[in-house]
Amino acid sequence: MIVRLVAYTPNPEVVAGTAAATCTDSKSPEKSLKSAMKSGHNSVLEHASFSFSVEDVSRVTLAQLTRHRIASFSVKSQRYCNTGKDAMMVVPGSVRKEGYEEKGIAMFKSCVDFYEELVASGVPKEDARYFLPEGVCTKIMLTMNARELLHFFRLRTCHKAQWEIREMAEKMLTEAKMVAPQIFLSAGPPCVACGKCTELKPCSSPRRIGPKGELI
Ligand SMILES: Cc1cc2nc3c(=O)[nH]c(=O)nc-3n(C[C@H](O)[C@H](O)[C@H](O)COP(=O)(O)OP(=O)(O)OC[C@H]3O[C@@H](n4cnc5c(N)ncnc54)[C@H](O)[C@@H]3O)c2cc1C
Repeated sequence: MIVRLVAYTPNPEVVAGTAAATCTDSKSPEKSLKSAMKSGHNSVLEHASFSFSVEDVSRVTLAQLTRHRIASFSVKSQRYCNTGKDAMMVVPGSVRKEGYEEKGIAMFKSCVDFYEELVASGVPKEDARYFLPEGVCTKIMLTMNARELLHFFRLRTCHKAQWEIREMAEKMLTEAKMVAPQIFLSAGPPCVACGKCTELKPCSSPRRIGPKGELI
């Protein structure tokens, strides 16, 4: 999976800080941002947006990702693009571990071959795609503001989230932290963001922030 931060509001922390300073008539955006975030006045974070491109991710993850409504998405179209030619799929580690990778890929390939046969015989791509599995790779561009990103990271970097969307969220967080370290300082699941798990059945391995600011 490839995740790239392709664009973001220039000086996101100055922008969010200036919004916070506007509310209190303060002269210090930096201090204002800190205290706004500390007091949960997170609407100031909505002034900073981040756009990511994600490649080699499954449509399983696409379905989970697009449940997040405070975001904008553009997805490689299966109606207009041929999915057959270079189709790839995501093979879960558990499948590989049990020795089913080869058999799984052969099944995937036969679905893709059938898809190609349908398209070649005149069936529109939008109908032929009904025979493609959910594991097929896609390409996404998404934009979220910093407030929604914090919420997204809270849900999707948690060990309760599925591994693929978790991997994606972790990569997005790494990129976001590089350009807005203050905003994303304690971003992560509740065990990291507020030191306490909110799940009914907590996992056995709470996360923490490592020496380089990475989620462990
Ligand atoms: C571990 C895990 C397991 C899951 N399992 C399932 C499952 O089994 N089945 C299933 O269907 N989904 C499942 N989901 C998806 C989940 O229910 C949410 O749809 C998804 O996480 C998006 O979260 P959200 O609605 O908080 O966020 P967003 O859509 O990103 O919204 C952000 C916040 O904005 C506010 N908001 C947005 N829209 C509205 C609105 N219309 N009205 C009021 N407030 C709004 C809410 O405060 C919301 O938390 C799962 C998610 C996770 C993380």
